[in-house]
Amino acid sequence: MTAEAEYGPKELQLDIPSAARAYDYFLGGAHNFEADRAFAEQVRAMVPWVPDVAKLNRSFLRRVVGYLLDQGIDQFLDLGSGIPTVGNVHEIAQQRVPDARVVYVDYEPVAYKYARTLLAGDPNTAIIQADVRDPLAVLDAPETRELIDFSRPVGLLMVGLLLFIGPQDNPAELVRTYRDRLAPGSYLAISHIADEHAPEELRAQVATLVAAYAQANEHVYVRERTEIESWFDGMEMVEPGVVFLPDWRSESPDEAQNVARPLGYGGAARLP
Ligand code: SAM
Repeated sequence: MTAEAEYGPKELQLDIPSAARAYDYFLGGAHNFEADRAFAEQVRAMVPWVPDVAKLNRSFLRRVVGYLLDQGIDQFLDLGSGIPTVGNVHEIAQQRVPDARVVYVDYEPVAYKYARTLLAGDPNTAIIQADVRDPLAVLDAPETRELIDFSRPVGLLMVGLLLFIGPQDNPAELVRTYRDRLAPGSYLAISHIADEHAPEELRAQVATLVAAYAQANEHVYVRERTEIESWFDGMEMVEPGVVFLPDWRSESPDEAQNVARPLGYGGAARLP
C-alpha cells in the first residue's frame, strides 16, 4: 500500500522524505531531516527551479491573505498549512487584525508538532493534525468549532495542497464539501503546480519531478487551468482570475521574470 492510500494523520517516518519537510528545506527552513535533504537535493539537481516555485507560492500566499484581510476576512482555515516558516498566515493576519483567528491543518507530524509549539499561548490560533481528505475530521474538530464561526465569512486556503490530492480522491468534490460549510462572503484561495504553457524543457522537468515524488511516496498531480478554475464554479472570481503565481496581484516585478513563472497557478474567489 502506498502512503497516499492511507488516510488520516501520518506517522513520523524520518527515513522517508516528506513533501512538507522537503518544502521546508526548499524555503531555507530548519525542520527537515537527512532523508528530506538528500531527496530535495536530488530533485534540485534534476529540477533546479523547484525552490523558485516554492518561493513564488509562498509569496502568493502572503498576497492573497493580504487581499482577504482587505475584504474584511478575519478568520482563516488553512488546509495543508505546512511546517511553519516566515510569513505564516496568523502572523500576516494578526499584524493587521490582532485578534484574527487561524486554524491550521496538516497531516504531517513535524508540521503539527512545530506549529503546536509556535502557537502555544495564542488563544486565537490552533493546529489540527488531520487528513484534509477527511473533511469532517477538520470541520468538526473541537479547535475548528471553537475558533471558526461558520455563520460569518471565512478565508479558506488550499495553497500548495491540491497538487497532492489525486483524482481517486476527487478534488472537485473535496473542495465543494469545504465550500458548502462557508457563509456567503467567504473566500477560497487555491494554488497549484502547472506545466501546460511551459517550454518543452521545463515540461520534461515537471515530469521528472512527478516521478521523483512518486518514489518518495508522496504523489504530485499536475493539472490544467480549466480544471483548477472549475473548483471555483459558482463563485465570483477575484481579478485577474486563475493566473501564473507572479501574475496574481503582483507586488514584485522581479517575480514575473522568474523561470518558474509558468509552473504554478493561483486564484481566489468570493462566495456570493
Ligand atoms: N500551504 C503551505 C504553503 O503554501 O506555503 C504549505 C504547502 S506544502 C507544499 C503542502 C502541505 O500539504 C504539506 O505540509 C503536506 O504535509 C500537506 N498535505 C498534503 N496532503 C495532505 C492531506 N491529505 N492532508 C493534510 N495535509 C496534507
